[in-house]
Amino acid sequence: MNIVACPSCGSKNIRQGTIGNGVLTGYTSLDVCRDCGYRGMPIVFDSKEEYKKFLREISNTKKANKKRGHKTNGGT
Ligand SMILES: [Zn+2]
Repeated sequence: MNIVACPSCGSKNIRQGTIGNGVLTGYTSLDVCRDCGYRGMPIVFDSKEEYKKFLREISNTKKANKKRGHKTNGGT
């Protein structure tokens, strides 16, 4: 069983965009994440285990970003 997920936030709430979503699918099929608004190719996992592993990785990345965000806060 394949699991299709958003590479940005890991949500499974990602599906092919339609014109109704404001996404033009003229020549290429873009998927749209309903949770974070990501547009592009989704990640396809072969198994739940692979998907869970990915979810753990992005939650680690988010934590790391938060730590880093403190230092760079106030730019621009
Ligand atoms: Zn997403």
